[in-house]
Amino acid sequence: MPKGVERLVIIGSGPAGLTAAIYGCRADLSPLVFMGTQYGGQLMLTSEVENFPGFRDPVMGPDLMMSMKSQAERLGARLVQEDVVKVNFRTRPFEITTESGQVSARAVIVATGANPKRIGLENELRLMGKGVSNCAVCDAFFFRGKRVAVVGGGDTAMEEANFLSKFASSVQIIHRRAELRANAALRREAESNPKISFVWNTVVTDVLGAAKVEGVRVRNVETGEQSTMGVDGLFVAIGHEPNTDVFRGQMELDEKGYAKVRNGTESSVPGVFVAGDVRDFRYRQAVTAAAEGCKALIDAEKFVKADLAAAAVS
Ligand SMILES: Cc1cc2nc3c(=O)[nH]c(=O)nc-3n(C[C@H](O)[C@H](O)[C@H](O)COP(=O)(O)OP(=O)(O)OC[C@H]3O[C@@H](n4cnc5c(N)ncnc54)[C@H](O)[C@@H]3O)c2cc1C
Repeated sequence: MPKGVERLVIIGSGPAGLTAAIYGCRADLSPLVFMGTQYGGQLMLTSEVENFPGFRDPVMGPDLMMSMKSQAERLGARLVQEDVVKVNFRTRPFEITTESGQVSARAVIVATGANPKRIGLENELRLMGKGVSNCAVCDAFFFRGKRVAVVGGGDTAMEEANFLSKFASSVQIIHRRAELRANAALRREAESNPKISFVWNTVVTDVLGAAKVEGVRVRNVETGEQSTMGVDGLFVAIGHEPNTDVFRGQMELDEKGYAKVRNGTESSVPGVFVAGDVRDFRYRQAVTAAAEGCKALIDAEKFVKADLAAAAVS
Protein backbone atom coordinates (compact mmCIF):
# COMPACT_ATOMS: atom_id res chain seq x y z
CA MET A 1 0.00 0.00 0.00
CA PRO A 2 1.30 3.48 -0.82
CA LYS A 3 2.41 5.59 2.17
CA GLY A 4 1.49 9.24 2.77
CA VAL A 5 -1.77 11.00 2.06
CA GLU A 6 -3.30 10.35 -1.36
CA ARG A 7 -4.86 13.30 -3.09
CA LEU A 8 -7.64 11.16 -4.49
CA VAL A 9 -8.85 7.60 -4.01
CA ILE A 10 -11.45 6.20 -6.40
CA ILE A 11 -13.46 3.15 -5.34
CA GLY A 12 -14.86 1.12 -8.26
CA SER A 13 -13.77 0.38 -11.83
CA GLY A 14 -16.97 0.48 -13.90
CA PRO A 15 -17.52 3.30 -16.42
CA ALA A 16 -17.95 5.83 -13.57
CA GLY A 17 -14.77 4.92 -11.66
CA LEU A 18 -12.54 4.57 -14.73
CA THR A 19 -13.78 7.82 -16.28
CA ALA A 20 -13.03 9.58 -12.98
CA ALA A 21 -9.57 7.97 -13.09
CA ILE A 22 -8.92 9.18 -16.65
CA TYR A 23 -9.96 12.73 -15.79
CA GLY A 24 -8.08 12.50 -12.48
CA CYS A 25 -4.80 11.77 -14.25
CA ARG A 26 -5.36 14.65 -16.62
CA ALA A 27 -5.99 16.90 -13.57
CA ASP A 28 -2.66 15.76 -12.08
CA LEU A 29 -4.27 14.12 -9.07
CA SER A 30 -2.48 10.79 -9.60
CA PRO A 31 -5.55 8.81 -8.49
CA LEU A 32 -5.28 5.54 -6.65
CA VAL A 33 -8.12 3.29 -7.84
CA PHE A 34 -9.44 0.34 -5.88
CA MET A 35 -11.03 -1.54 -8.72
CA GLY A 36 -12.69 -4.24 -6.66
CA THR A 37 -12.02 -7.94 -7.17
CA GLN A 38 -14.70 -7.92 -9.92
CA TYR A 39 -13.07 -5.16 -11.92
CA GLY A 40 -14.81 -3.58 -14.91
CA GLY A 41 -18.27 -3.55 -13.38
CA GLN A 42 -21.57 -4.64 -14.91
CA LEU A 43 -20.50 -4.44 -18.55
CA MET A 44 -18.18 -7.40 -17.94
CA LEU A 45 -21.39 -9.45 -17.81
CA THR A 46 -22.69 -8.55 -21.21
CA SER A 47 -21.77 -9.23 -24.81
CA GLU A 48 -22.51 -6.56 -27.41
CA VAL A 49 -22.84 -2.93 -26.41
CA GLU A 50 -24.31 -0.89 -29.22
CA ASN A 51 -25.15 2.40 -27.54
CA PHE A 52 -21.84 3.63 -26.16
CA PRO A 53 -20.81 6.58 -28.36
CA GLY A 54 -17.63 6.32 -30.36
CA PHE A 55 -18.01 2.81 -31.75
CA ARG A 56 -19.47 2.46 -35.20
CA ASP A 57 -19.97 -1.27 -34.69
CA PRO A 58 -21.05 -3.06 -31.51
CA VAL A 59 -18.27 -3.43 -28.97
CA MET A 60 -18.12 -6.34 -26.51
CA GLY A 61 -18.76 -5.18 -22.93
CA PRO A 62 -15.50 -6.64 -21.53
CA ASP A 63 -13.50 -5.13 -24.46
CA LEU A 64 -14.98 -1.70 -23.75
CA MET A 65 -14.01 -1.97 -20.08
CA MET A 66 -10.50 -3.24 -20.94
CA SER A 67 -10.07 -0.17 -23.19
CA MET A 68 -11.16 2.18 -20.42
CA LYS A 69 -8.79 0.45 -18.00
CA SER A 70 -5.86 0.64 -20.46
CA GLN A 71 -6.60 4.31 -21.11
CA ALA A 72 -6.56 5.06 -17.37
CA GLU A 73 -3.35 3.05 -16.93
CA ARG A 74 -1.60 4.77 -19.84
CA LEU A 75 -2.41 8.15 -18.31
CA GLY A 76 -0.87 7.07 -14.99
CA ALA A 77 -3.73 5.86 -12.78
CA ARG A 78 -2.61 3.38 -10.14
CA LEU A 79 -5.02 0.47 -10.31
CA VAL A 80 -5.33 -2.04 -7.48
CA GLN A 81 -7.56 -5.09 -7.93
CA GLU A 82 -8.90 -5.26 -4.39
CA ASP A 83 -12.19 -4.62 -2.62
CA VAL A 84 -12.46 -1.85 -0.08
CA VAL A 85 -13.68 -3.54 3.10
CA LYS A 86 -13.95 -0.53 5.42
CA VAL A 87 -13.89 3.26 5.29
CA ASN A 88 -13.69 5.96 7.90
CA PHE A 89 -15.16 9.19 6.55
CA ARG A 90 -15.43 10.68 10.04
CA THR A 91 -11.75 11.50 10.18
CA ARG A 92 -9.58 13.72 7.93
CA PRO A 93 -7.75 12.60 5.90
CA PHE A 94 -10.22 9.81 5.15
CA GLU A 95 -9.17 6.22 5.83
CA ILE A 96 -9.77 3.49 3.26
CA THR A 97 -9.05 -0.12 4.15
CA THR A 98 -8.65 -3.17 1.90
CA GLU A 99 -7.60 -6.77 2.73
CA SER A 100 -3.95 -5.80 2.35
CA GLY A 101 -3.79 -2.51 4.22
CA GLN A 102 -4.98 1.03 4.71
CA VAL A 103 -4.47 4.30 2.85
CA SER A 104 -5.51 7.84 3.68
CA ALA A 105 -6.88 10.37 1.21
CA ARG A 106 -7.89 14.01 0.96
CA ALA A 107 -10.83 13.16 -1.32
CA VAL A 108 -12.69 10.00 -2.30
CA ILE A 109 -14.93 9.18 -5.24
CA VAL A 110 -17.36 6.35 -4.56
CA ALA A 111 -18.28 4.58 -7.83
CA THR A 112 -19.15 1.12 -6.61
CA GLY A 113 -22.20 0.66 -8.82
CA ALA A 114 -25.13 -1.63 -8.26
CA ASN A 115 -25.89 -5.24 -9.02
CA PRO A 116 -29.06 -6.29 -10.78
CA LYS A 117 -30.91 -8.79 -8.59
CA ARG A 118 -30.94 -12.26 -10.07
CA ILE A 119 -33.44 -15.07 -9.95
CA GLY A 120 -30.49 -17.17 -8.76
CA LEU A 121 -30.31 -19.83 -11.49
CA GLU A 122 -27.06 -21.30 -12.79
CA ASN A 123 -28.19 -21.02 -16.42
CA GLU A 124 -29.34 -17.43 -15.89
CA LEU A 125 -25.72 -16.50 -15.23
CA ARG A 126 -24.33 -18.75 -18.00
CA LEU A 127 -26.64 -17.17 -20.61
CA MET A 128 -26.22 -13.58 -19.39
CA GLY A 129 -25.59 -11.46 -22.49
CA LYS A 130 -26.70 -14.42 -24.65
CA GLY A 131 -30.41 -13.77 -24.32
CA VAL A 132 -30.59 -13.06 -20.60
CA SER A 133 -30.49 -9.35 -19.79
CA ASN A 134 -31.32 -6.89 -17.05
CA CYS A 135 -31.63 -3.86 -19.27
CA ALA A 136 -34.24 -3.36 -22.00
CA VAL A 137 -32.93 0.07 -22.98
CA CYS A 138 -29.54 -1.57 -23.60
CA ASP A 139 -30.63 -4.79 -25.29
CA ALA A 140 -34.19 -4.51 -26.69
CA PHE A 141 -32.77 -3.67 -30.10
CA PHE A 142 -31.28 -7.19 -30.36
CA PHE A 143 -34.77 -8.73 -29.99
CA ARG A 144 -36.47 -7.22 -33.00
CA GLY A 145 -39.23 -9.57 -34.13
CA LYS A 146 -38.40 -12.06 -31.34
CA ARG A 147 -40.31 -13.50 -28.37
CA VAL A 148 -39.24 -12.30 -24.95
CA ALA A 149 -40.26 -12.84 -21.35
CA VAL A 150 -39.92 -10.31 -18.53
CA VAL A 151 -39.72 -11.45 -14.91
CA GLY A 152 -41.18 -9.10 -12.31
CA GLY A 153 -44.32 -7.21 -11.36
CA GLY A 154 -43.10 -3.77 -10.31
CA ASP A 155 -42.55 -0.48 -12.10
CA THR A 156 -39.26 -1.57 -13.64
CA ALA A 157 -40.78 -4.74 -15.08
CA MET A 158 -43.62 -2.76 -16.69
CA GLU A 159 -41.20 -0.17 -18.08
CA GLU A 160 -39.01 -2.94 -19.50
CA ALA A 161 -42.03 -4.72 -21.03
CA ASN A 162 -43.47 -1.54 -22.56
CA PHE A 163 -40.08 -0.65 -24.03
CA LEU A 164 -39.46 -4.17 -25.34
CA SER A 165 -42.84 -4.24 -27.08
CA LYS A 166 -41.53 -1.68 -29.58
CA PHE A 167 -39.10 -4.30 -30.87
CA ALA A 168 -40.18 -7.80 -29.85
CA SER A 169 -43.00 -9.74 -31.53
CA SER A 170 -44.39 -10.74 -28.12
CA VAL A 171 -43.65 -9.92 -24.48
CA GLN A 172 -44.82 -12.25 -21.71
CA ILE A 173 -44.61 -10.88 -18.20
CA ILE A 174 -43.99 -13.68 -15.72
CA HIS A 175 -45.03 -12.71 -12.21
CA ARG A 176 -45.04 -14.82 -9.07
CA ARG A 177 -48.25 -13.19 -7.81
CA ALA A 178 -51.72 -12.66 -9.29
CA GLU A 179 -51.47 -8.89 -9.23
CA LEU A 180 -48.89 -6.26 -10.11
CA ARG A 181 -47.06 -3.92 -7.74
CA ALA A 182 -46.44 -1.40 -10.53
CA ASN A 183 -48.11 2.00 -10.45
CA ALA A 184 -51.49 2.36 -12.17
CA ALA A 185 -50.26 4.30 -15.22
CA LEU A 186 -47.53 1.78 -16.10
CA ARG A 187 -49.88 -1.12 -15.39
CA ARG A 188 -52.57 0.30 -17.69
CA GLU A 189 -50.03 0.91 -20.44
CA ALA A 190 -48.86 -2.72 -20.25
CA GLU A 191 -52.35 -4.18 -19.94
CA SER A 192 -53.62 -2.33 -22.99
CA ASN A 193 -50.63 -3.24 -25.15
CA PRO A 194 -51.66 -6.00 -27.59
CA LYS A 195 -48.14 -7.43 -27.67
CA ILE A 196 -47.96 -7.88 -23.89
CA SER A 197 -49.51 -10.79 -22.01
CA PHE A 198 -49.27 -11.96 -18.38
CA VAL A 199 -48.32 -15.29 -16.87
CA TRP A 200 -49.59 -15.09 -13.27
CA ASN A 201 -48.57 -16.98 -10.14
CA THR A 202 -45.54 -18.30 -11.93
CA VAL A 203 -41.80 -18.49 -11.28
CA VAL A 204 -38.93 -19.26 -13.65
CA THR A 205 -37.09 -22.42 -12.55
CA ASP A 206 -34.56 -22.74 -15.39
CA VAL A 207 -33.29 -20.99 -18.50
CA LEU A 208 -32.92 -23.27 -21.52
CA GLY A 209 -30.49 -23.13 -24.43
CA ALA A 210 -26.92 -24.20 -25.20
CA ALA A 211 -25.35 -21.09 -26.75
CA LYS A 212 -28.30 -18.70 -26.42
CA VAL A 213 -31.69 -18.56 -24.76
CA GLU A 214 -34.27 -20.84 -26.38
CA GLY A 215 -36.84 -21.02 -23.62
CA VAL A 216 -37.58 -21.03 -19.91
CA ARG A 217 -38.92 -23.65 -17.53
CA VAL A 218 -41.65 -22.26 -15.29
CA ARG A 219 -43.69 -23.49 -12.33
CA ASN A 220 -47.13 -22.33 -11.29
CA VAL A 221 -46.82 -21.62 -7.57
CA GLU A 222 -50.50 -22.42 -6.93
CA THR A 223 -50.84 -25.72 -8.80
CA GLY A 224 -47.17 -26.81 -8.87
CA GLU A 225 -47.58 -27.48 -12.59
CA GLN A 226 -44.38 -27.20 -14.61
CA SER A 227 -44.13 -26.20 -18.26
CA THR A 228 -41.76 -24.81 -20.88
CA MET A 229 -42.18 -21.48 -22.63
CA GLY A 230 -40.35 -20.92 -25.90
CA VAL A 231 -38.70 -17.48 -25.80
CA ASP A 232 -35.60 -15.93 -27.34
CA GLY A 233 -34.88 -13.55 -24.50
CA LEU A 234 -35.39 -13.28 -20.75
CA PHE A 235 -35.34 -9.87 -19.06
CA VAL A 236 -34.97 -10.10 -15.31
CA ALA A 237 -36.53 -6.96 -13.83
CA ILE A 238 -36.73 -7.62 -10.11
CA GLY A 239 -34.64 -4.69 -8.92
CA HIS A 240 -31.06 -3.63 -8.25
CA GLU A 241 -28.89 -3.68 -5.15
CA PRO A 242 -26.50 -0.74 -4.70
CA ASN A 243 -23.01 -1.70 -3.50
CA THR A 244 -22.99 0.48 -0.41
CA ASP A 245 -22.62 -1.94 2.51
CA VAL A 246 -19.15 -0.66 3.39
CA PHE A 247 -20.41 2.94 3.47
CA ARG A 248 -23.26 2.31 5.88
CA GLY A 249 -23.03 4.77 8.79
CA GLN A 250 -20.26 6.70 6.99
CA MET A 251 -22.36 8.69 4.54
CA GLU A 252 -26.07 9.21 3.95
CA LEU A 253 -27.90 6.49 2.04
CA ASP A 254 -31.57 6.41 1.06
CA GLU A 255 -34.01 3.77 2.27
CA LYS A 256 -32.97 1.43 -0.56
CA GLY A 257 -29.28 1.89 0.18
CA TYR A 258 -28.43 4.23 -2.72
CA ALA A 259 -25.92 6.98 -1.91
CA LYS A 260 -27.55 10.38 -1.45
CA VAL A 261 -26.10 13.41 -3.22
CA ARG A 262 -26.87 17.06 -2.75
CA ASN A 263 -24.91 19.58 -4.74
CA GLY A 264 -23.77 17.95 -8.01
CA THR A 265 -21.93 14.80 -6.99
CA GLU A 266 -21.27 15.68 -3.33
CA SER A 267 -22.23 13.07 -0.77
CA SER A 268 -23.31 14.03 2.74
CA VAL A 269 -19.58 14.14 3.65
CA PRO A 270 -17.58 17.07 2.22
CA GLY A 271 -14.71 15.59 0.23
CA VAL A 272 -16.53 12.36 -0.60
CA PHE A 273 -18.12 12.35 -4.05
CA VAL A 274 -20.42 9.84 -5.67
CA ALA A 275 -20.85 8.76 -9.30
CA GLY A 276 -22.82 6.27 -11.36
CA ASP A 277 -25.27 3.51 -10.53
CA VAL A 278 -24.38 3.60 -6.83
CA ARG A 279 -26.65 6.63 -6.63
CA ASP A 280 -28.49 6.62 -9.95
CA PHE A 281 -31.45 4.25 -9.95
CA ARG A 282 -33.13 6.09 -12.79
CA TYR A 283 -30.89 6.11 -15.86
CA ARG A 284 -28.48 3.20 -15.22
CA GLN A 285 -26.46 3.51 -18.42
CA ALA A 286 -22.75 3.20 -19.10
CA VAL A 287 -22.67 6.62 -20.70
CA THR A 288 -24.51 8.33 -17.82
CA ALA A 289 -22.22 6.58 -15.29
CA ALA A 290 -19.16 7.73 -17.26
CA ALA A 291 -20.53 11.28 -17.37
CA GLU A 292 -21.00 11.24 -13.61
CA GLY A 293 -17.44 9.97 -13.15
CA CYS A 294 -16.30 13.05 -15.04
CA LYS A 295 -18.49 15.38 -12.96
CA ALA A 296 -17.37 13.80 -9.69
CA LEU A 297 -13.75 14.29 -10.67
CA ILE A 298 -14.27 17.96 -11.49
CA ASP A 299 -15.97 18.43 -8.10
CA ALA A 300 -13.22 16.45 -6.33
CA GLU A 301 -10.47 18.42 -8.05
CA LYS A 302 -11.89 21.69 -6.75
CA PHE A 303 -12.14 20.25 -3.28
CA VAL A 304 -8.55 18.92 -3.28
CA LYS A 305 -7.18 22.23 -4.55
CA ALA A 306 -8.95 24.14 -1.77
CA ASP A 307 -7.87 21.56 0.81
CA LEU A 308 -4.21 21.76 -0.26
CA ALA A 309 -4.35 25.57 -0.22
CA ALA A 310 -5.83 25.54 3.30
CA ALA A 311 -3.15 23.08 4.46
CA ALA A 312 -0.39 25.34 3.02
CA VAL A 313 -1.72 28.35 4.95
CA SER A 314 -2.03 26.60 8.31
C1 LIG B 1 -26.20 -7.40 -18.44
C2 LIG B 1 -26.07 -5.91 -18.54
C3 LIG B 1 -26.01 -5.31 -19.77
C4 LIG B 1 -25.89 -3.93 -19.87
N1 LIG B 1 -25.80 -3.37 -21.11
C5 LIG B 1 -25.64 -2.04 -21.22
C6 LIG B 1 -25.52 -1.43 -22.50
O1 LIG B 1 -25.57 -2.09 -23.54
N2 LIG B 1 -25.35 -0.07 -22.54
C7 LIG B 1 -25.33 0.71 -21.41
O2 LIG B 1 -25.16 1.93 -21.51
N3 LIG B 1 -25.45 0.15 -20.19
C8 LIG B 1 -25.61 -1.19 -20.05
N4 LIG B 1 -25.75 -1.76 -18.83
C9 LIG B 1 -25.76 -0.87 -17.65
C10 LIG B 1 -24.33 -0.44 -17.30
O3 LIG B 1 -23.51 -1.58 -17.26
C11 LIG B 1 -24.29 0.30 -15.98
O4 LIG B 1 -25.18 1.39 -16.01
C12 LIG B 1 -22.87 0.82 -15.70
O5 LIG B 1 -21.95 -0.25 -15.72
C13 LIG B 1 -22.79 1.52 -14.36
O6 LIG B 1 -21.48 1.90 -14.16
P1 LIG B 1 -20.87 2.20 -12.72
O7 LIG B 1 -19.44 2.53 -12.95
O8 LIG B 1 -21.71 3.15 -12.00
O9 LIG B 1 -21.00 0.82 -11.90
P2 LIG B 1 -20.62 -0.68 -12.21
O10 LIG B 1 -20.46 -0.95 -13.64
O11 LIG B 1 -21.61 -1.47 -11.43
O12 LIG B 1 -19.18 -0.84 -11.54
C14 LIG B 1 -18.99 -0.79 -10.17
C15 LIG B 1 -17.58 -1.23 -9.82
O13 LIG B 1 -17.35 -1.04 -8.42
C16 LIG B 1 -16.66 -2.16 -7.90
N5 LIG B 1 -16.93 -2.29 -6.48
C17 LIG B 1 -18.08 -2.58 -5.84
N6 LIG B 1 -17.89 -2.62 -4.50
C18 LIG B 1 -16.57 -2.35 -4.30
C19 LIG B 1 -15.75 -2.27 -3.16
N7 LIG B 1 -16.21 -2.46 -1.92
N8 LIG B 1 -14.43 -1.98 -3.31
C20 LIG B 1 -13.93 -1.77 -4.56
N9 LIG B 1 -14.65 -1.84 -5.68
C21 LIG B 1 -15.96 -2.13 -5.55
C22 LIG B 1 -17.22 -3.33 -8.72
O14 LIG B 1 -16.32 -4.43 -8.65
C23 LIG B 1 -17.28 -2.71 -10.11
O15 LIG B 1 -16.03 -2.79 -10.73
C24 LIG B 1 -25.85 -3.13 -18.69
C25 LIG B 1 -25.91 -3.73 -17.44
C26 LIG B 1 -26.02 -5.12 -17.35
C27 LIG B 1 -26.06 -5.77 -15.99
